[in-house]
Amino acid sequence: MIEVKNLVKRYGTQVAVDHLNFTLEKGKIYGFLGPNGAGKSTTMNIMTGYLGATEGEVVINGHDILKEPEAAKKCIGYLPELPPLYTDMKVEEYLHFAAELKKIAKKDREGQIGRVMELTKLGDVRHRLIRNLSKGYRQRVGLAQAILGFPEIIILDEPTVGLDPKQIIEIRELIRELAKDHTVILSSHILAEISAVCDYILIISHGKLVASDTPEHLEMQMKGSERLLIYARGIQSVVEGILSQVPHIADVSYTVLEDGTTKAEILEEEGADIREELFYAFAENRCPLLEMTKTKATLENVFLELTQSEEQEAPVSEQTEESVESEEEADESDL
Ligand code: ADP
Ligand code: MG
Repeated sequence: MIEVKNLVKRYGTQVAVDHLNFTLEKGKIYGFLGPNGAGKSTTMNIMTGYLGATEGEVVINGHDILKEPEAAKKCIGYLPELPPLYTDMKVEEYLHFAAELKKIAKKDREGQIGRVMELTKLGDVRHRLIRNLSKGYRQRVGLAQAILGFPEIIILDEPTVGLDPKQIIEIRELIRELAKDHTVILSSHILAEISAVCDYILIISHGKLVASDTPEHLEMQMKGSERLLIYARGIQSVVEGILSQVPHIADVSYTVLEDGTTKAEILEEEGADIREELFYAFAENRCPLLEMTKTKATLENVFLELTQSEEQEAPVSEQTEESVESEEEADESDL
Protein backbone atom coordinates (compact mmCIF):
# COMPACT_ATOMS: atom_id res chain seq x y z
CA MET A 1 0.00 0.00 0.00
CA ILE A 2 1.16 3.49 -0.81
CA GLU A 3 0.25 6.61 1.12
CA VAL A 4 1.04 10.04 -0.21
CA LYS A 5 0.38 12.77 2.31
CA ASN A 6 0.37 16.48 1.67
CA LEU A 7 3.07 16.19 -0.94
CA VAL A 8 4.55 19.45 -2.23
CA LYS A 9 7.41 20.03 -4.67
CA ARG A 10 8.60 23.50 -5.55
CA TYR A 11 11.21 24.38 -8.15
CA GLY A 12 12.18 27.87 -7.07
CA THR A 13 8.91 29.72 -7.01
CA GLN A 14 7.18 27.25 -9.31
CA VAL A 15 4.93 24.70 -7.65
CA ALA A 16 5.15 21.40 -9.54
CA VAL A 17 3.25 19.31 -6.97
CA ASP A 18 0.68 21.07 -4.86
CA HIS A 19 -0.47 19.28 -1.68
CA LEU A 20 -1.22 15.87 -3.15
CA ASN A 21 -2.99 13.32 -0.99
CA PHE A 22 -3.93 9.80 -1.98
CA THR A 23 -3.77 6.19 -0.90
CA LEU A 24 -3.22 3.36 -3.34
CA GLU A 25 -4.21 -0.17 -2.50
CA LYS A 26 -2.62 -3.42 -3.37
CA GLY A 27 -3.35 -5.30 -6.56
CA LYS A 28 -4.91 -2.60 -8.72
CA ILE A 29 -3.81 -0.73 -11.84
CA TYR A 30 -3.71 2.99 -11.17
CA GLY A 31 -3.38 5.67 -13.81
CA PHE A 32 -2.01 9.17 -13.31
CA LEU A 33 -3.67 11.23 -16.00
CA GLY A 34 -2.86 14.84 -16.71
CA PRO A 35 -1.61 17.21 -19.40
CA ASN A 36 2.10 17.73 -19.93
CA GLY A 37 3.55 19.67 -17.03
CA ALA A 38 0.83 18.57 -14.61
CA GLY A 39 3.35 17.09 -12.18
CA LYS A 40 3.04 13.38 -12.91
CA SER A 41 6.74 12.64 -13.37
CA THR A 42 7.70 14.78 -10.39
CA THR A 43 5.24 12.86 -8.21
CA MET A 44 6.54 9.51 -9.45
CA ASN A 45 10.14 10.60 -8.93
CA ILE A 46 9.36 11.48 -5.33
CA MET A 47 7.38 8.28 -4.73
CA THR A 48 10.31 6.21 -5.91
CA GLY A 49 12.93 8.14 -3.96
CA TYR A 50 14.63 9.71 -6.99
CA LEU A 51 13.77 13.19 -5.88
CA GLY A 52 13.24 14.83 -2.51
CA ALA A 53 9.95 16.51 -1.68
CA THR A 54 9.67 20.09 -0.46
CA GLU A 55 6.97 19.03 2.01
CA GLY A 56 4.91 15.99 2.83
CA GLU A 57 5.58 12.29 3.01
CA VAL A 58 5.41 9.09 1.01
CA VAL A 59 4.99 5.81 2.83
CA ILE A 60 5.45 2.54 0.93
CA ASN A 61 4.20 -0.54 2.78
CA GLY A 62 4.79 1.23 6.07
CA HIS A 63 8.27 2.49 5.11
CA ASP A 64 8.84 6.22 4.77
CA ILE A 65 10.71 6.80 1.51
CA LEU A 66 12.97 9.36 3.19
CA LYS A 67 13.58 7.66 6.53
CA GLU A 68 13.86 4.08 5.30
CA PRO A 69 14.72 4.43 1.61
CA GLU A 70 16.24 0.95 1.27
CA ALA A 71 13.21 -0.86 2.64
CA ALA A 72 10.79 1.35 0.70
CA LYS A 73 12.66 1.06 -2.59
CA LYS A 74 12.80 -2.71 -2.28
CA CYS A 75 9.04 -2.75 -2.84
CA ILE A 76 9.22 -0.72 -6.04
CA GLY A 77 10.29 -1.22 -9.63
CA TYR A 78 10.46 1.99 -11.65
CA LEU A 79 10.54 2.85 -15.31
CA PRO A 80 11.29 6.58 -15.40
CA GLU A 81 10.29 8.84 -18.27
CA LEU A 82 13.87 8.65 -19.55
CA PRO A 83 15.05 5.16 -18.61
CA PRO A 84 18.65 5.10 -17.40
CA LEU A 85 19.90 2.63 -19.99
CA TYR A 86 23.58 2.03 -20.64
CA THR A 87 23.54 2.00 -24.39
CA ASP A 88 27.00 0.47 -24.74
CA MET A 89 25.87 -2.65 -22.94
CA LYS A 90 24.18 -5.64 -24.45
CA VAL A 91 20.64 -6.36 -23.29
CA GLU A 92 21.38 -9.37 -21.16
CA GLU A 93 24.57 -7.84 -19.83
CA TYR A 94 22.64 -4.75 -18.77
CA LEU A 95 20.00 -6.83 -17.02
CA HIS A 96 22.75 -8.65 -15.10
CA PHE A 97 24.14 -5.31 -14.09
CA ALA A 98 20.67 -4.10 -13.04
CA ALA A 99 20.09 -7.30 -11.04
CA GLU A 100 23.36 -6.74 -9.22
CA LEU A 101 22.43 -3.15 -8.39
CA LYS A 102 19.08 -4.33 -7.14
CA LYS A 103 20.95 -6.75 -4.89
CA ILE A 104 19.14 -9.78 -6.22
CA ALA A 105 20.78 -12.89 -4.80
CA LYS A 106 23.38 -14.37 -7.18
CA LYS A 107 21.67 -17.73 -7.37
CA ASP A 108 18.37 -16.13 -8.44
CA ARG A 109 19.75 -13.77 -11.05
CA GLU A 110 19.92 -16.09 -14.02
CA GLY A 111 16.39 -17.37 -13.50
CA GLN A 112 14.91 -13.93 -12.98
CA ILE A 113 16.63 -12.42 -15.99
CA GLY A 114 15.30 -15.31 -18.06
CA ARG A 115 11.78 -14.65 -16.80
CA VAL A 116 11.79 -10.91 -17.38
CA MET A 117 13.23 -11.37 -20.87
CA GLU A 118 10.46 -13.83 -21.58
CA LEU A 119 7.77 -11.48 -20.24
CA THR A 120 9.08 -8.51 -22.22
CA LYS A 121 9.88 -10.63 -25.29
CA LEU A 122 13.54 -9.68 -25.33
CA GLY A 123 14.95 -13.14 -25.96
CA ASP A 124 15.76 -12.50 -29.61
CA VAL A 125 17.77 -9.36 -28.89
CA ARG A 126 19.52 -10.49 -25.71
CA HIS A 127 22.97 -10.25 -27.32
CA ARG A 128 22.36 -6.96 -29.12
CA LEU A 129 23.77 -3.63 -28.01
CA ILE A 130 21.07 -1.44 -26.46
CA ARG A 131 22.35 1.42 -28.61
CA ASN A 132 21.22 -0.42 -31.75
CA LEU A 133 17.72 -1.21 -30.55
CA SER A 134 14.55 0.52 -31.73
CA LYS A 135 12.64 2.75 -29.34
CA GLY A 136 10.11 -0.01 -28.71
CA TYR A 137 12.77 -2.53 -27.74
CA ARG A 138 14.58 -0.02 -25.56
CA GLN A 139 11.34 0.62 -23.73
CA ARG A 140 11.05 -3.11 -23.15
CA VAL A 141 14.56 -3.19 -21.72
CA GLY A 142 13.53 -0.38 -19.38
CA LEU A 143 10.47 -2.36 -18.40
CA ALA A 144 12.48 -5.55 -17.90
CA GLN A 145 14.76 -3.61 -15.57
CA ALA A 146 11.75 -2.30 -13.63
CA ILE A 147 10.27 -5.78 -13.21
CA LEU A 148 13.53 -7.42 -12.11
CA GLY A 149 13.28 -8.60 -8.55
CA PHE A 150 9.51 -8.76 -9.00
CA PRO A 151 8.79 -5.93 -6.58
CA GLU A 152 5.27 -5.62 -5.24
CA ILE A 153 4.74 -2.22 -6.85
CA ILE A 154 5.64 -1.34 -10.42
CA ILE A 155 5.66 2.32 -11.43
CA LEU A 156 5.81 3.21 -15.12
CA ASP A 157 6.10 6.80 -16.33
CA GLU A 158 4.49 7.17 -19.76
CA PRO A 159 5.34 3.57 -20.71
CA THR A 160 3.85 3.77 -24.19
CA VAL A 161 5.09 7.17 -25.28
CA GLY A 162 6.76 7.08 -28.70
CA LEU A 163 5.71 3.53 -29.47
CA ASP A 164 3.81 2.38 -32.53
CA PRO A 165 0.26 0.97 -32.18
CA LYS A 166 1.39 -2.65 -32.23
CA GLN A 167 3.98 -2.03 -29.55
CA ILE A 168 1.41 -0.12 -27.49
CA ILE A 169 -0.92 -3.11 -27.55
CA GLU A 170 1.94 -5.41 -26.48
CA ILE A 171 2.88 -3.14 -23.59
CA ARG A 172 -0.75 -2.94 -22.48
CA GLU A 173 -0.96 -6.72 -22.47
CA LEU A 174 2.21 -6.90 -20.45
CA ILE A 175 0.85 -4.38 -17.94
CA ARG A 176 -2.32 -6.44 -17.52
CA GLU A 177 -0.21 -9.55 -17.08
CA LEU A 178 1.91 -7.86 -14.42
CA ALA A 179 -1.18 -6.56 -12.64
CA LYS A 180 -2.22 -10.12 -11.87
CA ASP A 181 0.23 -10.16 -9.00
CA HIS A 182 1.57 -6.63 -8.71
CA THR A 183 0.24 -3.16 -8.04
CA VAL A 184 0.88 -1.15 -11.18
CA ILE A 185 0.93 2.63 -11.40
CA LEU A 186 1.34 4.25 -14.77
CA SER A 187 1.11 7.76 -16.10
CA SER A 188 -0.01 9.24 -19.38
CA HIS A 189 -1.23 12.50 -20.82
CA ILE A 190 -3.50 10.49 -23.10
CA LEU A 191 -6.88 9.52 -21.74
CA ALA A 192 -7.36 6.50 -24.00
CA GLU A 193 -4.08 5.10 -22.74
CA ILE A 194 -5.21 5.26 -19.12
CA SER A 195 -8.80 4.15 -19.59
CA ALA A 196 -7.66 1.12 -21.61
CA VAL A 197 -5.82 -0.49 -18.71
CA CYS A 198 -6.52 1.23 -15.40
CA ASP A 199 -8.99 0.26 -12.68
CA TYR A 200 -8.64 3.62 -11.08
CA ILE A 201 -7.78 7.06 -12.45
CA LEU A 202 -6.13 9.95 -10.65
CA ILE A 203 -6.47 13.14 -12.67
CA ILE A 204 -3.71 15.62 -11.94
CA SER A 205 -3.75 19.23 -13.09
CA HIS A 206 -1.34 21.98 -12.03
CA GLY A 207 0.15 19.64 -9.43
CA LYS A 208 -3.23 19.09 -7.79
CA LEU A 209 -5.38 16.01 -7.63
CA VAL A 210 -8.61 17.12 -9.28
CA ALA A 211 -10.39 13.76 -9.39
CA SER A 212 -9.76 10.18 -8.39
CA ASP A 213 -12.18 7.41 -9.10
CA THR A 214 -12.95 4.47 -11.34
CA PRO A 215 -13.50 5.32 -15.02
CA GLU A 216 -17.19 4.40 -14.62
CA HIS A 217 -17.72 6.69 -11.63
CA LEU A 218 -15.94 9.56 -13.32
CA GLU A 219 -18.35 9.26 -16.22
CA MET A 220 -21.29 9.16 -13.81
CA GLN A 221 -20.12 12.36 -12.18
CA MET A 222 -20.49 14.05 -15.51
CA LYS A 223 -24.08 12.97 -16.00
CA GLY A 224 -25.15 16.30 -14.47
CA SER A 225 -23.87 18.08 -17.53
CA GLU A 226 -25.68 15.82 -19.97
CA ARG A 227 -28.03 17.74 -22.26
CA LEU A 228 -30.87 16.79 -24.53
CA LEU A 229 -30.52 18.57 -27.82
CA ILE A 230 -33.53 19.08 -30.11
CA TYR A 231 -34.18 20.78 -33.43
CA ALA A 232 -37.81 21.68 -34.18
CA ARG A 233 -39.43 23.30 -37.22
CA GLY A 234 -41.01 26.30 -35.54
CA ILE A 235 -40.30 29.72 -34.12
CA GLN A 236 -38.90 30.02 -30.62
CA SER A 237 -42.16 31.10 -28.95
CA VAL A 238 -43.92 28.00 -30.28
CA VAL A 239 -41.14 25.69 -29.09
CA GLU A 240 -41.09 27.46 -25.73
CA GLY A 241 -44.83 26.99 -25.42
CA ILE A 242 -44.60 23.28 -26.09
CA LEU A 243 -41.69 22.73 -23.72
CA SER A 244 -43.55 24.53 -20.94
CA GLN A 245 -46.09 21.67 -21.01
CA VAL A 246 -43.42 19.00 -20.53
CA PRO A 247 -42.54 18.15 -16.92
CA HIS A 248 -39.06 17.48 -15.46
CA ILE A 249 -37.21 20.16 -17.40
CA ALA A 250 -34.67 22.00 -15.24
CA ASP A 251 -33.38 24.48 -17.79
CA VAL A 252 -33.52 25.27 -21.52
CA SER A 253 -31.48 27.50 -23.78
CA TYR A 254 -32.65 28.40 -27.28
CA THR A 255 -30.93 29.24 -30.53
CA VAL A 256 -32.92 30.32 -33.58
CA LEU A 257 -31.35 29.12 -36.79
CA GLU A 258 -31.39 30.84 -40.16
CA ASP A 259 -33.66 28.26 -41.78
CA GLY A 260 -36.45 29.03 -39.29
CA THR A 261 -35.84 26.06 -37.05
CA THR A 262 -35.25 26.38 -33.33
CA LYS A 263 -32.55 24.53 -31.47
CA ALA A 264 -33.16 23.89 -27.78
CA GLU A 265 -30.63 22.53 -25.30
CA ILE A 266 -32.52 20.97 -22.45
CA LEU A 267 -31.23 20.09 -19.01
CA GLU A 268 -33.47 17.43 -17.50
CA GLU A 269 -34.13 17.12 -13.79
CA GLU A 270 -31.95 14.50 -12.17
CA GLY A 271 -32.95 10.97 -13.05
CA ALA A 272 -35.61 12.08 -15.54
CA ASP A 273 -35.93 10.87 -19.12
CA ILE A 274 -38.34 13.13 -20.99
CA ARG A 275 -37.68 11.91 -24.51
CA GLU A 276 -41.02 10.17 -25.09
CA GLU A 277 -43.11 12.96 -23.58
CA LEU A 278 -41.19 15.43 -25.65
CA PHE A 279 -41.89 13.45 -28.80
CA TYR A 280 -45.66 13.34 -28.16
CA ALA A 281 -45.84 16.98 -27.07
CA PHE A 282 -44.35 18.13 -30.35
CA ALA A 283 -46.52 15.71 -32.36
CA GLU A 284 -49.74 16.83 -30.62
CA ASN A 285 -48.88 20.45 -31.30
CA ARG A 286 -48.12 19.58 -34.92
CA CYS A 287 -44.66 21.05 -34.62
CA PRO A 288 -42.20 18.76 -36.41
CA LEU A 289 -39.34 17.54 -34.26
CA LEU A 290 -36.46 17.20 -36.70
CA GLU A 291 -33.79 15.84 -34.43
CA MET A 292 -33.29 14.71 -30.86
CA THR A 293 -29.92 13.70 -29.42
CA LYS A 294 -28.44 13.24 -26.00
CA THR A 295 -24.95 14.67 -25.55
CA LYS A 296 -22.96 11.89 -23.98
CA ALA A 297 -20.97 12.30 -20.83
CA THR A 298 -17.72 10.73 -21.86
CA LEU A 299 -14.53 10.39 -19.94
CA GLU A 300 -13.08 12.74 -22.53
CA ASN A 301 -15.49 15.46 -21.30
CA VAL A 302 -14.54 14.77 -17.70
CA PHE A 303 -10.88 15.10 -18.47
CA LEU A 304 -11.32 18.26 -20.52
CA GLU A 305 -13.55 19.87 -17.94
CA LEU A 306 -11.23 19.12 -15.05
CA THR A 307 -8.07 20.21 -16.80
CA GLN A 308 -9.60 22.99 -18.87
CA SER A 309 -7.62 25.87 -17.48
CA GLU A 310 -4.42 23.98 -18.13
CA GLU A 311 -2.06 25.76 -20.42
CA GLN A 312 0.27 23.48 -22.27
CA GLU A 313 3.74 23.49 -20.85
CA ALA A 314 6.91 23.84 -22.81
CA PRO A 315 8.17 20.47 -24.07
CA VAL A 316 10.19 18.36 -21.68
CA SER A 317 13.33 18.85 -23.75
CA GLU A 318 13.96 22.16 -22.03
CA GLN A 319 15.63 20.59 -19.07
CA THR A 320 17.18 22.55 -16.30
CA GLU A 321 20.42 21.58 -14.70
CA GLU A 322 18.61 20.20 -11.72
CA SER A 323 16.71 17.65 -13.74
CA VAL A 324 19.88 16.50 -15.48
CA GLU A 325 21.54 16.09 -12.14
CA SER A 326 18.71 14.08 -10.70
CA GLU A 327 18.89 11.73 -13.65
CA GLU A 328 22.54 11.10 -13.00
CA GLU A 329 21.83 10.37 -9.38
CA ALA A 330 19.14 8.01 -10.50
CA ASP A 331 21.59 6.06 -12.65
CA GLU A 332 23.61 5.15 -9.66
CA SER A 333 21.06 4.64 -6.99
CA ASP A 334 17.91 3.33 -8.46
CA LEU A 335 18.07 0.84 -11.24
P1 ADP B 1 4.39 15.84 -16.17
O1 ADP B 1 5.20 14.63 -15.93
O2 ADP B 1 2.98 15.74 -15.68
O3 ADP B 1 4.46 16.30 -17.59
P2 ADP B 1 6.42 17.15 -14.59
O4 ADP B 1 6.36 16.52 -13.26
O5 ADP B 1 7.50 16.74 -15.50
O6 ADP B 1 4.99 17.04 -15.29
O7 ADP B 1 6.54 18.73 -14.41
C1 ADP B 1 5.71 19.47 -13.52
C2 ADP B 1 6.14 20.92 -13.54
O8 ADP B 1 7.41 21.08 -12.92
C3 ADP B 1 6.29 21.49 -14.94
O9 ADP B 1 5.82 22.82 -14.92
C4 ADP B 1 7.76 21.44 -15.20
O10 ADP B 1 8.16 22.45 -16.07
C5 ADP B 1 8.33 21.64 -13.80
N1 ADP B 1 9.63 20.96 -13.63
C6 ADP B 1 9.84 19.63 -13.74
N2 ADP B 1 11.13 19.31 -13.49
C7 ADP B 1 11.75 20.48 -13.22
C8 ADP B 1 13.10 20.84 -12.87
N3 ADP B 1 14.04 19.90 -12.74
N4 ADP B 1 13.36 22.14 -12.67
C9 ADP B 1 12.40 23.08 -12.78
N5 ADP B 1 11.12 22.82 -13.08
C10 ADP B 1 10.78 21.54 -13.31
MG1 MG C 1 6.14 13.45 -17.32
